[in-house]
Amino acid sequence: MVHDAPSKALALDSLPLDARMFTGEGDPDFALPERPEPGYSAVAPHVAESLLGLLDELELPSHHQPQGEALRERVRGGLNWYELVPVLDDLAVLVLAVTDSGQREFAGYLKQLNERLAAFIGTLSEAHEGYSESVESSRSFNQELREQVSDLQASVQEAVDLPSLKQALEQRLDGLLSTVAEHQRQREGREEEVAQRLQALAQRVSEMEQEAQGFRNHLEEQRQKALTDPLTGLANRAGWAERLELEIARWRRYGGDLLLAVLDIDHFKRINDGYGHLAGDKVLKIIAGELNKRLRKTDFLARYGGEEFVLLVPSTPLEGGVQLLETLRSAIEACPFHFRGEPMAITLSAGLTAFAAGEGGDAAFARADQALYRAKREGRNRIALG
Ligand code: GH3
Ligand code: MG
Ligand code: MG
Repeated sequence: MVHDAPSKALALDSLPLDARMFTGEGDPDFALPERPEPGYSAVAPHVAESLLGLLDELELPSHHQPQGEALRERVRGGLNWYELVPVLDDLAVLVLAVTDSGQREFAGYLKQLNERLAAFIGTLSEAHEGYSESVESSRSFNQELREQVSDLQASVQEAVDLPSLKQALEQRLDGLLSTVAEHQRQREGREEEVAQRLQALAQRVSEMEQEAQGFRNHLEEQRQKALTDPLTGLANRAGWAERLELEIARWRRYGGDLLLAVLDIDHFKRINDGYGHLAGDKVLKIIAGELNKRLRKTDFLARYGGEEFVLLVPSTPLEGGVQLLETLRSAIEACPFHFRGEPMAITLSAGLTAFAAGEGGDAAFARADQALYRAKREGRNRIALG
């Protein structure tokens, strides 16, 4: 391919000026076609010398060197007029081949260089992404890169020809790539370390959360214990105080009726005295359960102390409260207690009151307590209003 095209293009009239001169054109002594031979013979040594000089100057790639050598042999062997044109054609082919191969080599090299630069830029941007290491490390990395790039620029400027440019670029690029690779390696090492530390921290945090949850559960248990009466399972006096405050706050905010009752078991001392303290405890437990199961979820019953209970009934008019307490009273009265095989009735008395506008828990309690005493005075097993 490379050989065909130039041989056609290189007709004699397109030869350089020197070559045309030796055809005798423009020379009165050697005018063509009458006397071409003698004119050419006279200049043939010069032509041969020029051609050999040109061949010497051609830096032929190794695969074209045999052709160059053959051409040199033909020129040294002496050229007649008819041989000159084919020799020049072949020489032109070689010249073009040299130029072409140089260009192709250069283009190939540029392509390779471009790919390596692309790889380099890719690595750089990877290194830049997720760039989370210390400022000091990044500063020294930048400094190193800058030095290498400036070395690269200097090498390119110093390079005088393609091979030395190529060599300089390769060396510098290798240096740059290994700097980036080393930096990347160090960064990955640091990230791995940080990841491990984070994992250990996360583990520690999760353990602490579990511990804290354990403490919270324990505290809540303790709190519930502190607010509960162990015998009856009802709220104790502290639980009562807490709930009373809450219900008063709700009542003040939403209005309606808030009722408070104090209930006391009649002649409880007799039970203790007659059947023992344990029997008394059992009665207290049963009565607490019987009372509690007849209440709504919003009502609140507590053991205030001894055989005395307190009840909060929110959002209920006084008549409703009276009815509820009647139900409770009659349920206890009807409870089939037996002591040593004998049935025995146990009763309770209660004082009931409704909170009056603006008053606190103590005032309402005192009124209900006074009503309870009245109920006792009036014969027990009854409800009195305060
Ligand atoms: P009243 O009808 O006037 O209320 O007479 P009462 O005997 O119930 O009243 P009093 O206050 O005189 O006696 C209460 C008794 O309750 C005293 C005590 O023996 C008993 N008691 C108080 N707390 C407990 C307790 O936790 N367990 C038992 N078994 N008895 C208790
Ligand atoms: Mg009593
Ligand atoms: Mg009492």
